[in-house]
Amino acid sequence: PHPGLTTLAVACVAGPEARLAPAVPGLADDLFAHDGVMTKREVRAMTLARLAPLPGGMLWDVGCGCGSVAVEWMRAARGARAVGIEPRADRRALAAANARRLGTPGLEIREGTAPDALAGLPAPDAVFLGGGLSEAAVDAARAALRPRGRLVANAVTLESEALLLALHGRLGGDLTRISISRAAPVGTRTGWRPSMDVTQWSLET
Ligand code: SAH
Repeated sequence: PHPGLTTLAVACVAGPEARLAPAVPGLADDLFAHDGVMTKREVRAMTLARLAPLPGGMLWDVGCGCGSVAVEWMRAARGARAVGIEPRADRRALAAANARRLGTPGLEIREGTAPDALAGLPAPDAVFLGGGLSEAAVDAARAALRPRGRLVANAVTLESEALLLALHGRLGGDLTRISISRAAPVGTRTGWRPSMDVTQWSLET
């Protein structure tokens, strides 16, 4: 059974280091076990807003890495389900550990690469392409999406951004650039440390 939202809204680790872990997306990055490659807090929150979790909804998290997007999808709406696809065994292990620790043990994690690994999965309400972006993966996702489906793809390289521009030209949707800077020490003072910009393409089918 899916844990109640009330339970999820309370600290996820008992004891003096208890941390707030609300069901609203944008959990602190360090609540997840990760290897540095992850969708960071603010970008993750904006990604989840576009994916629009609804009760009982199914997400495909393609290139799920440490599972942060899939875990937040499942926490955000009662009965939400998710399949994560990730070729790397070490990252699948991180995703499984995060799902257990953050209250979504039902996250299904599969080995594979897009687009091949998308064949035969239960039809999604939303698809997140965080890795393995290609025209073929997008077309496979669009073909599988249920009515009123949502597709979101994030890119940090110029090559994948060019692909998103082409997809936007062919299929429409929204292109958004997300620029996040965090204050960090500069010697004894403080300065803005920018993260790499993320280009986000989202489409409602
Ligand atoms: N959203 C993730 C980060 C994704 S990084 C998180 O928060 O942790 C992109 C991931 O896509 C990497 O883990 C990489 O191993 C995976 N990947 C690369 N090519 C892929 C493909 N063709 N299909 C599926 N996953 C792929």
